[in-house]
Amino acid sequence: MSTDARPHVRSHELHQRASRCTPGGVHSNVRLPGPRIFFERADGAWLRSVDGHDYVDYLLGQGPNFLGHAPAAVLAAVNDACQDGVIFGGQHEIEVQAAELVCETLGWPDMVRFGVSGTEAVQAAFRLARAVTGRTKIIRFEGHYHGWLDNVLMAPDGDGWGTASAGQLASHLDDVVVLPWNDADRLADALASGGDQVAAVIMEPVMINAGVIEPLPGYLERVRELCTLHGVVLIFDEVLSGFRLGLGGAAGRYGVAPDLATYAKALAAGWPVAALAGRADLMERFGTGEVNHSGTFNGSVVATAAVKASLERLRDDPPYAAIEEHGTALMAGIRELGETHGVPLRAAGLAAAFHVSFGDADVVDYRSLQRLDLARYEQFADKLIDNGVWVAPRGVWYVSACHGPAELDAALTRFG
Ligand code: PLP
Repeated sequence: MSTDARPHVRSHELHQRASRCTPGGVHSNVRLPGPRIFFERADGAWLRSVDGHDYVDYLLGQGPNFLGHAPAAVLAAVNDACQDGVIFGGQHEIEVQAAELVCETLGWPDMVRFGVSGTEAVQAAFRLARAVTGRTKIIRFEGHYHGWLDNVLMAPDGDGWGTASAGQLASHLDDVVVLPWNDADRLADALASGGDQVAAVIMEPVMINAGVIEPLPGYLERVRELCTLHGVVLIFDEVLSGFRLGLGGAAGRYGVAPDLATYAKALAAGWPVAALAGRADLMERFGTGEVNHSGTFNGSVVATAAVKASLERLRDDPPYAAIEEHGTALMAGIRELGETHGVPLRAAGLAAAFHVSFGDADVVDYRSLQRLDLARYEQFADKLIDNGVWVAPRGVWYVSACHGPAELDAALTRFG
């Protein structure tokens, strides 16, 4: 990483001055291991703190920086858009091009609506599903995370996020029904007895947030059939999986198309932009005045320029094989570290995003994640951070297109 001539601002000074700003982003609801660290530069897979320490980054801003930090093509595209002087507002060719590219890349949707956060995209999907069906209930699944909306969608079921109790959930939104995931019979029963009140079923099609767990074979197909049978809108929340698990995201990986899907994070390589994509017969309702969901910054030129540039980069130079190779080697290395140190340290998942944990539980069953030893994981993470490996507060590690042998070596040797 190149350095500049500026003297380093010492982090303790920033700690004192930080009383004027509340912690943002991932710092706000999850305890990060160790002291708060201020970064001043980022490059590829590396971060540099204000104290001049370099960290190899496996958190990637909780997932978004899939092409590494500051990818040149995306920076250039955003810069070009700014030079043209049309910064805000969605009525620009770049937004149209970005929407076309999202639809072509994913293969199944007809239309896209850009927004600024994954949560907002989820909210737009709910509004649309409710307007289209004239029903109110939403079915979601234990341990799945869909954003910060009044905390009503935070899992109350011990997945480690711990924000809303079951009681709070019920009082906030009676219309949310929580079912166990990967259990098509339970969903079939729920829809058989009250499907005519259900507007939507929403899920992370790969449950990334609570452990990177894949759907059982045939499960997504069965959910698809049940939703079609009962006239329920099927929403895939691909905020994390979209563009990360291959160009088509989880829908492409498993060959099951939802009715609506939400995207953010890897969509624009770290720029704050999200998208709701879907079939035309649903999405067209946005333009009719029946469904109101708009914001000042939706579809801005700079945001959609970032979407366009990052999807072009993913299409023209797909990083997936390299990411698979790196993630697989890193997972194996982490398991070996556990053996060397005589601790039940595990790493399992999908290479581009995988779960690292301590404990004897089987991570393939998300319910057993509750038995994993988070305190031990936090100690492990603290040690890594002290030694220059920036990792997730809750055990999910993300790999970017910029991770290679140097990063692998750093991650595996710095545990000590
Ligand atoms: N859905 C999923 C699957 C997520 O992982 C997240 C964020 O981590 C969200 C929705 C919310 O997105 P945002 O934090 O951009 O509001």
